[in-house]
Amino acid sequence: MNGHDRDLCNMVDDYIDGELTSGDRKIFVSHLEQCTRCQLRLNDYVSLKQSLQAMFSKDLDHDADLRIRRRIRHNTGTGEAGDILDMEDLARLLKIPVSEVVDLLDELPSFEIGGRLRFRRSRIMEWISGREQNLMRDRQESSLPPSSNIIKFPGGLL
Ligand SMILES: [Zn+2]
Repeated sequence: MNGHDRDLCNMVDDYIDGELTSGDRKIFVSHLEQCTRCQLRLNDYVSLKQSLQAMFSKDLDHDADLRIRRRIRHNTGTGEAGDILDMEDLARLLKIPVSEVVDLLDELPSFEIGGRLRFRRSRIMEWISGREQNLMRDRQESSLPPSSNIIKFPGGLL
């Protein structure tokens, strides 16, 4: 590796930070196509960024979940009765109109009593957690294709 290449390798951090001028960026991208070291470096960065994003959205969802829990506890008082929700309670909990709760009935965990549908708060919370996990998985999967375009090249070593 000659001195010129080493200079180019030093540009990888600025490239990641988006601090290269458009001219330098072009120079670096053509270097990247041939330099395994920079490809690995960039690959590490992309995986780190993806795990940070996953953690970030998890924290946000967790926070939202806590706020929801606190709100229900406030609304429904204490005791066993607070665990049972009717359609209006559930709509308030999910912050959607009752008509949209009706659309979700097939996938929501519910039970019937005296011909009326009721929901257990704890089962709804499990259902919400399941949806959070699906969403996170979808986000991670959908963020993969663009990054693999950056890293993988025809005839590349990766
Ligand atoms: Zn390099």
